[in-house]
Parts: sequence; C-alpha cells; structure tokens
Amino acid sequence: MFKEGDYILIVYGDKRFLKRLSKGFSLNVKDAVLKFEDVVGKEEGSKVGDFYLFRPTVEEIILYGFKRKTQIIYPKDAFYIAYTLGLDKSKRVLEFGTGSGALTTVLSLLGGEVWTFEASENFYKLALSNWEAFGLCKEVKHFNMDFMQAELEEEFFDAAFVDVREPWHYLEKLHKVLKKGARCGFLLPTTNQVSTLLKNLQGLFSDVTVLEILHRYYKTNPDRLRPEDRMVAHTGYLIFCRKIT
Ligand code: SAM
Repeated sequence: MFKEGDYILIVYGDKRFLKRLSKGFSLNVKDAVLKFEDVVGKEEGSKVGDFYLFRPTVEEIILYGFKRKTQIIYPKDAFYIAYTLGLDKSKRVLEFGTGSGALTTVLSLLGGEVWTFEASENFYKLALSNWEAFGLCKEVKHFNMDFMQAELEEEFFDAAFVDVREPWHYLEKLHKVLKKGARCGFLLPTTNQVSTLLKNLQGLFSDVTVLEILHRYYKTNPDRLRPEDRMVAHTGYLIFCRKIT
C-alpha cells in the first residue's frame, strides 16, 4: 500500500513521473488530475483514472528521480559497466568522479565495497542528497577529494571506473592502486579522447576493448510494432582494460 512519504512512479500513456507522496500532492496531465487522496492506501499496480501507480526501480530512480548537475552515466551503460568490471559482493571497487552519484548507485548494488572520490564540493553534496532521498548507497565510502590527493594502499582495488574528462593524467596512480590483472573502465564522450586514452594505456594496461551501447525503443502497438522515431543516439564510449605488471 502506498503511504505518505513514499516515492511512486506514475505512468500516464507514454509519460512517466516519479513523485514523492506528500500531503497536498497533485499531478495534472492534460485534463486529468491525480491527487494525494487518490493514491494513499492504493496497492502497487493500481489504476486511478488513466494513471497507473507503481514503485520505482533503481533505473527509474536514477532516470527520473536524481537531480543532475553533471552529465550522468545512464543506466544502460552503468549496468553493463558493473558486470564488465566483474563485480560481486566480494569485490572492492574504486570510482572517480562521483558526479551526481548515478554510477555509484549501480556499483553499490552489484559490488562489495565501493570507494568514490569527487573533487567538487557542489557535486559531492548533490550525490549525497540524491542517495539520501532514496535511501541508497548507505555503505559507500565517499570522499570529497581529488583522486590525486587520496592516500591509498598499493594493489588495494579489484576494479575501477573513471568518469573524468582527461583520465590519462591518472593512469600511473590507477595502476598502482589496482590489483594485478584488475579490470578498469572509462567513459568518454568523444573519439579524440578515446584515441588519447588508448595511446596512454600502453605499457600499463592491456586486453583493451572499446564499445558503445545503443538502446532503440519500440512503439508497443502489437499490430504496428516498429522502432520509436527518435532515440538517444550517443551517451559515451566505454573503454575497458586490465592492469598488466
Ligand atoms: N559518473 C557520474 C555519474 O554517473 O553521476 C558523473 C561524473 S561527472 C561527468 C565527472 C565528475 O568528475 C565531475 O563531478 C568532476 O567534478 C569530477 N572530477 C574531475 N576530476 C576529478 C578528480 N581528479 N578527482 C575526483 N573527481 C574528479
């Protein structure tokens, strides 16, 4: 049953809204109105007028609930990243920069210990408030610190992911703090950055792959099944590699 304070995912046709159920809540879409008293006490999956009521998944929380002041890593990339890094509950993973905390959320679900570093105080606070709002990342070790300032043991991490503009400046330190053979990943928006990274990985990391993930949604009319006209055609290139000795 939905109660005051819960987050609910409201689906109206092809529109989705993630809202907190507080007194005075109301949602207007076209001529339809959904009010607080229409939702409280209803079960998940209920239909009120043309509104369907659900509890949001982590993917939906990140997409519709998180406040963003940075570019985030989209769930389509984040879940793939977590699996490709080989995460499980026994693994300790390093991340920088934290940004709005989107990737950290996925790493913390699939990995064991997550250590994340964010240089900007503004973005660090934003990530904390996103996690707190939805009760996420409670075990994450977070630091408002430039990764280069962090004092870390050598060969400490099982995996790492780096989402900063010029990751090649950090490769020597990354190499030091990763265990032998550990997987490391990067997200970069342009091919020029990917080329520069590839040149700089040589001698420190090997088993390199570069890929991108394209999601194409379909219109769900069973008699006229076909792709949507528009898609998010580019988020970033993913680069994965392994530490060599
Ligand atoms: N992956 C994040 C997410 O999914 O929400 C978004 C990361 S955002 C694109 C890049 C972040 O890296 C910025 O917030 C920036 O302040 C941070 N950053 C840049 N250089 C850094 C460094 N050397 N150490 C820690 N954070 C850094």
